[in-house]
Amino acid sequence: MENKETIVVQSHPDMVHQKNSDTNFDFDTQGIVMYVDGDFVKAKGTTLGADNGIGVASIMTLLASDDIPHPALEALFTIDEETGMTGALALKGGLLDGKILLNLDTKKIMN
Ligand SMILES: [Zn+2]
Repeated sequence: MENKETIVVQSHPDMVHQKNSDTNFDFDTQGIVMYVDGDFVKAKGTTLGADNGIGVASIMTLLASDDIPHPALEALFTIDEETGMTGALALKGGLLDGKILLNLDTKKIMN
């Protein structure tokens, strides 16, 4: 069954900037040092930025792809989620057409 309804996909590009106490790192000038550990991507001495970089990357991948089937999308990137959600709170009603929103900034662990 093909879904003709527009889906809003939401994420936020801001991240929590934290580093380990023994790590010398400047978030303003340095890039995150990532590495693969088994099935996981991790960061050396800092937060990874997966919250919510994974949501941003997922949406950008959908928008850039010509071969991933999906319904019509509206991409919503809200700012300042980590320190007050001011971006989401300032979102004006009526801006989006989609009635279904997928927030890509959460996880649910199924046991
Ligand atoms: Zn988040």
